[in-house]
Amino acid sequence: MKGSVANEQPRPSITLNDVGGLSEEMKDEILQTLSTLKEPERAMKMGVKPPKGILFYGPPGTGKTLLAQAIARELNAAFFSASGSAFNELFVGVGASRVRSLFQSARKQKSAVIFIDEVDALAGRRKPHGGEEAEKTLTELLVQLDGGHSNDGILFIAATNRKDMLDEAFIRPGRIDFSFHVPLPDTKGRREIIDIHIKGKVLADEVYASLDTLADSTSGFSGAELQSLFETASRRAVRMGRGLIQKDDLDYALDRTILGSTSRTLKDK
Ligand code: ATP
Repeated sequence: MKGSVANEQPRPSITLNDVGGLSEEMKDEILQTLSTLKEPERAMKMGVKPPKGILFYGPPGTGKTLLAQAIARELNAAFFSASGSAFNELFVGVGASRVRSLFQSARKQKSAVIFIDEVDALAGRRKPHGGEEAEKTLTELLVQLDGGHSNDGILFIAATNRKDMLDEAFIRPGRIDFSFHVPLPDTKGRREIIDIHIKGKVLADEVYASLDTLADSTSGFSGAELQSLFETASRRAVRMGRGLIQKDDLDYALDRTILGSTSRTLKDK
């Protein structure tokens, strides 16, 4: 469809076990949220209203998209995903019509998750002299989120690195019912994420033995950086003509990752 961003993705295969570093509290809250969504009548009888929208916020690469995918899979829902910036258009009305078409596509499904990454680009706080187009697009999003029963079976999930930028009207309950902070992982979290990303890889014994130290020494690394660390080490091992990841592959990958994040930090300044 021309001008559409209603990207229905293949049904996700990610499960909550593929997301490392979640606190027990967060896991409990997500499981409880899922149970209210799976059995809404039962939840209502107990006085609990299933959420219509949830927000994940936190630094880049910490697993917000993974969480949205895992939730869609748990709900056996179709997964519609778009970036907030895909709704920014110069032509008046185009962004709003993309929002409408996204919700229309999702409503055709028995059950659907609409996931908007970088939602601050779409639902940023309105400025007194902000663009007319951006305002119209956000208003349309609010209208669609307020769709009442036509939104039954739809869960809206948004993600952002900048919760402070979001419009108050967007994050009010009824539109966004829960906000979850997804922080950078701590040592225990990094160890869990490392375990997830070494699956299917062959590691030399000394590398295996150093994984606790690695988790300890990678403070500030996101899940995405840990994943990239093992991908880089693995690619180097293959380039060196072995399948086995050795300590020098990991050291090489660590240098590359640290260099990458340092240059990013410098650029950001
Ligand atoms: P952004 O804010 O930049 O959109 P994000 O928080 O949505 O980032 P993801 O897209 O979920 O981050 O993560 C990117 C990749 O990094 C994932 O596909 C996964 O391989 C890895 N990753 C990130 N966080 C985790 C985690 N908590 N557990 C396991 N893997 C992770």
